[in-house]
Amino acid sequence: MTKTVFSKPFTQQEAIPDAGIEHAIKVLRSGRLHRYNTLEGEISEAALLEQEYAAYMGQRYCLACTSGGYSLHIALKAAGIQPGDAVLSNAFTLAPVPGAIDNAGGKPVLVEIDNNYCVDLAHLETMMLQSKARFFMISHMRGHIADMIAVSALCKKHGVTLIEDCAHTMGASWDGKKSGSFGKIACFSTQTYKHLNSGEGGLLTTDDDEIIARATIYSGSYMLFERHGTVPEADVFSDIKLDTPNYSGRMDNLRAAILRAQLPGLDQNCARWNERYRALESRLAQNSRILLPQRPEQESYVGSSLQFRVADFDQQQVSAFVDNCATRGVELKWFGGAEPHGFTSRYDSWRYTGNTQQLPQTLEILATTFDLRIPLTFSIEDMGIIGSIIDEEATEILG
Ligand SMILES: *Cc1c(COP(=O)(O)O)cnc(C)c1O
Repeated sequence: MTKTVFSKPFTQQEAIPDAGIEHAIKVLRSGRLHRYNTLEGEISEAALLEQEYAAYMGQRYCLACTSGGYSLHIALKAAGIQPGDAVLSNAFTLAPVPGAIDNAGGKPVLVEIDNNYCVDLAHLETMMLQSKARFFMISHMRGHIADMIAVSALCKKHGVTLIEDCAHTMGASWDGKKSGSFGKIACFSTQTYKHLNSGEGGLLTTDDDEIIARATIYSGSYMLFERHGTVPEADVFSDIKLDTPNYSGRMDNLRAAILRAQLPGLDQNCARWNERYRALESRLAQNSRILLPQRPEQESYVGSSLQFRVADFDQQQVSAFVDNCATRGVELKWFGGAEPHGFTSRYDSWRYTGNTQQLPQTLEILATTFDLRIPLTFSIEDMGIIGSIIDEEATEILG
């Protein structure tokens, strides 16, 4: 019997909606692509995006900039990081997170993850006590949201400033409160594989006057900060503008225009991701050796990717499984490899940080964890096909 092969690419996103294309053409025709290149009385696309995204988040301020990683970097700077400061982060994340900590002069202190890919709260408190870190950059990696009430309480108890990396939780919430509104600052990415797509881009949100003022100057506002979409009174800037360097990382009007057109459809797209996630999850749940993360009732997630474990696999079986699924068109990513590969890397490959922590729990979980993207170009039916392929290949290897 010939085996089904899935033939759609896992990297194909949906087209930019027509409204976004038209909007982009308008900006191109105007020639005013730079965010401060405006006519008398005109509010730039970048400034409008800031207003609209702040409103979406229910936060006072939003800053649009070049990338998610850049926003993480200036978030730490705006929060007052000093050279050599320890910054806590969960060990399962993407390379731009330790990169942003390094760029801000910090030293990552890594925290174990639990079986549901969230930060391990007991280990977090241990590391808070041990490191005396003043910052925790929590990465809601692959959209898994830890108990944010407990995380916030721990941060408060130990005097730690919470910064949220919401690259995978744009549109998600915990206990009815938007992901990104628990910390002092939240950072979002609008890179192609995230929930809004402008190729590259970043959004930083906060309720704090001084933080947004510093972040705005860092982002390269020159002395044009009053033209931003959401900024405090000019007097907040009076000292900050002279004490803060320009780290040039502005968003342009072209990308802002593309994003503005997508924002009204974000929640609907999140629902579409979840329909696909749940279809795949329920198909995989038919195989009891495929372990799926528990998703607590308070977690309103966005299922733009799915992670599962086959804890019974040994190393050789892991490789065979990834290869066999790939042969059938199902692209699985594996975060357990000692060598970084593509977008994935294990924490111990971030050698530049000088971090030599041993995190056995995270290593054990990642050793048999598989990760797959759920692009919206896949149908609900496709999820059944992908689920069957994964189930069959796992069964064949396990016997
Ligand atoms: C994509 C991503 C980032 C960085 O975003 P860029 O816009 O690519 O710089 C940070 N954290 C996580 C978890 C990501 O997936």
